[in-house]
Amino acid sequence: MTPNPALNSLAADTVKLLINGAFVESQTTEWHDVINPATQQILAHVPFATDAEIDAAVAAAKEAYKTWKHTPLAARARIMLKLQALIREHMNRIAQTLSAEQGKTVADAEGDVFRGLEVVEHACSIGSLQMGEFAENVAGGVDTYTIRQPIGVCAGITPFNFPAMIPLWMFPMAIVCGNTFVLKPSEQDPLTPMLLAELALQAGVPRGVLNIIHGGKRAVDAICTHPDIVAISFVGSTAVGTHVYNLGTQHGKRVQAMMGAKNHAVIMPDANKEHSLNAVVGATFGAAGQRCMATSVTVLVGEAQQWIPAIVAKAKTLKVNAGSEKGTDVGPVISRAAKQRILGLLEEGIKEGAKLELDGRGVKVNGFENGNFIGPTIFSGVTPTMKIYTTEIFGPVMVIVNVQTLDEAIELINKNPFGNGTGLFTQSGAAARKFQSEIDVGQVGINVPIPVPVPFFSFTGSRGSKLGDLGPYGKQVIHFYTQTKTVTARWFDDSTTSGGVNTTISLK
Ligand code: NAD
Repeated sequence: MTPNPALNSLAADTVKLLINGAFVESQTTEWHDVINPATQQILAHVPFATDAEIDAAVAAAKEAYKTWKHTPLAARARIMLKLQALIREHMNRIAQTLSAEQGKTVADAEGDVFRGLEVVEHACSIGSLQMGEFAENVAGGVDTYTIRQPIGVCAGITPFNFPAMIPLWMFPMAIVCGNTFVLKPSEQDPLTPMLLAELALQAGVPRGVLNIIHGGKRAVDAICTHPDIVAISFVGSTAVGTHVYNLGTQHGKRVQAMMGAKNHAVIMPDANKEHSLNAVVGATFGAAGQRCMATSVTVLVGEAQQWIPAIVAKAKTLKVNAGSEKGTDVGPVISRAAKQRILGLLEEGIKEGAKLELDGRGVKVNGFENGNFIGPTIFSGVTPTMKIYTTEIFGPVMVIVNVQTLDEAIELINKNPFGNGTGLFTQSGAAARKFQSEIDVGQVGINVPIPVPVPFFSFTGSRGSKLGDLGPYGKQVIHFYTQTKTVTARWFDDSTTSGGVNTTISLK
């Protein structure tokens, strides 16, 4: 490693860029620390790539596309088969790294990797996924068929909360379709995506097909405006996603932006109490509430309002500790800044008159006194105008809203601008059917708290949680990463007689 004078501590390693098949040291003068959120230990220094390095990554992807797009489907699928095997083999190493840089428990980190691994497994079916359609004899002797072709250099911009799953939503599907890729991971936890990239190269991804640059707003804007990038997959907050969508589409790119959320879980009085409360408490506080599909609002209908003490009792049993420690339920939030932001929102909730049922602000964790911990926190008596209801808190916080009927619950949710996920807990098939039909949210769970679809389906957040019409993975992403060419063909042999020049447009 070449010492870089811009680094304030050389104890930790530097994160490399991946350009044209080589892991290279950035020449930038701007470096940020990758910090363990439980200990504040500096794990590595991440460069904010220079404009020239970003251009070099895109140029490598553009050059590689010339040959990669012609690589047979089966050869691309075989690389994905190898990649899924390597991810399985290295699962523990990836999960340990992920837990250290992101803060989630090792078990949850394995879940993060596993949900991405499932997408790689699905990518192995590209032979049938990328098939076109064929209709014989659409007119006399005329056949029409479609071909799904790759589109060029694609880019991905990913958030901190799933540093394995979300990069794996993107680059395997993009490259297995015949595109090349430039990934810009979150600067807060770039080590996990770099491990995945190493495995991708080992699996046989040719040089230039996958490139990685690091950075913040400047790198993101460079991606959005780069003339050689044709499509961008973004996952992150609403503010940044909207910016990426607007800038990217203004520059002629396809953009899919999966953004912020406020997910409601509705508990009906006829719900199985134990199952529902366990599910909602787990879905609210797991991963310290830093999941885009976390339950953040619990809506108690009628008699279910009597279950608040039981919810609080269950939340109190959760153990707050570093993700590396056995038995941890709730790890730290990603950064000191994130902790301060969440604490500020909790203060607002108190000021606005919500009832603080459980206060996690003062939690102390022995041995990890510097960690960014917030214990499970619950507010009841929350109204839809309060800031803790209108804002995505992205921390271990449950806000409870009371309503009297299912209709009221549906109206509340449909008025909320976000549409990522929602859930209903009930034993009534009629209530469930009404809910799934009338609710205006893209992903619905019926007695399932975090309804993230498996990869044969697509991730289908909606309304304020998404910009662009096609979501990540599944069939939708095949459409996103390909363009359809429609061929209409007629063949003449020597025996065919010509009817002369035809100036009409019909095919007969
Ligand atoms: P973020 O928007 O801060 O960061 C996302 C990416 O944008 C990162 O790569 C970051 O480097 C970059 N970025 C940050 N600030 C930027 C700026 N000003 N201009 C340009 N780029 C910038 O998001 P985050 O905090 O890393 O992740 C949490 C958010 O992501 C939450 O809002 C969560 O709901 C959302 N999320 C959504 C989904 C989904 O599928 N809908 C999934 C996961 C996370």
